[in-house]
Amino acid sequence: MFETLNLRKVDNLLSLMQAFRTDQRPDKVDLGVGVYKNDAGDVPVMRAVKEAEQRLVADEESKNYVGIAGDAGFRELIPGLLLGADHALIGESRIASIQTPGGTGALKVACDMLQAITPGKTLWVSTPTWANHIPIATDAGLTVAQYPYFRGETRGLEFDAMMEHLRANAQSGDALMLHACCHNPTGVDLSSEQWKAVTDFVLDRGLLPVVDCAYQGLADGMDADVAGLRHMAARVPEMLIASSNSKNFAIYRERTGALSLVAKSKIELAATFAAAETVIRSNYSMPPSHGARVVSTVLQDSALRKIWEAELTDMRDRITSMRSGLRSRLQALDVEADTSFLTDQRGMFTYTGFTPDDVHWLREMRGIYMAGDGRINIAGLGSANIDAVAEALAARLA
Ligand code: PMP
Repeated sequence: MFETLNLRKVDNLLSLMQAFRTDQRPDKVDLGVGVYKNDAGDVPVMRAVKEAEQRLVADEESKNYVGIAGDAGFRELIPGLLLGADHALIGESRIASIQTPGGTGALKVACDMLQAITPGKTLWVSTPTWANHIPIATDAGLTVAQYPYFRGETRGLEFDAMMEHLRANAQSGDALMLHACCHNPTGVDLSSEQWKAVTDFVLDRGLLPVVDCAYQGLADGMDADVAGLRHMAARVPEMLIASSNSKNFAIYRERTGALSLVAKSKIELAATFAAAETVIRSNYSMPPSHGARVVSTVLQDSALRKIWEAELTDMRDRITSMRSGLRSRLQALDVEADTSFLTDQRGMFTYTGFTPDDVHWLREMRGIYMAGDGRINIAGLGSANIDAVAEALAARLA
């Protein structure tokens, strides 16, 4: 029976990783996969995480199931982490979080819920968006449409085109996917004014916002990065927020994330929560425990939390310094192209605007690996490779 299957390409990035591993050149550079790396190119365990894990191993007394919605301590902390502890939604009991297997799991549950709640409606995503958004949504049976977002010529946002397109095409009851910060793959985010304008439009048109928050803390800070999200959450009646702790706790393989549900009232929240539990039960039944316990252990202990915050600040500062370091090197090499995009774009990713030809040339001639769409992971840069990368990019930047 399996002969009826066609070979389906899982994700171009995964084959890129494979090609990188087999490349024998000692000075090869991996700017592909979106994980944070330190200056030495390693993906280390954070100190606060390590300490929390040691406590968990010592204290854990049972491996009983955690329940469909996951770890209670973790679930109680997430709304405060996303919105700030004094956000009105928390006081009004209009938000509840469910622990999910990573941000991906949260998106999958969100899409299954949308299919149940708004069959026949459209989910709007940016052009481009994270490579997994459209497959997750279409596999859940949703109709997906795209709005303009990134403008190649300026390597920035085309906000007017985005709004015009949505105004002309989005229908009441449709869902609108936004990236909370550090847009993947472009690194181009909405300004706070633009978040306000989108919020007005969402209210006016009667859309359901679905916000993907995978990189909170990786641009300007845990609070600053979600100021737009917080504004929107305070004004809309309903919302879904898919968040990930993979990046801000560097626990990628522990599959830790949350789906936060915002409803009009406490009663509707209970019904929405039950709907989420229903789709989870027949999917993966229950999430794993470990990563969520790590996150809640760190956040609940003021000393550990301080260590984690300092480590996250170091990660963020390193990304910022790699951005400005790359830009100043390109300027020193007299590159004529405007390189301001390198410091304007936020988070780990930068969309270079490189063509498939450029990407191919950089890989074959210089051993520099990046995603096929020209996205580079800034965290793949370090003191050992930044000069060589700048020199190679300078050869191709138009
Ligand atoms: N959304 C975006 C935009 C992402 O970049 C990622 C991770 N690459 C995710 C969601 C999923 O994160 P996780 O690894 O926690 O499933």
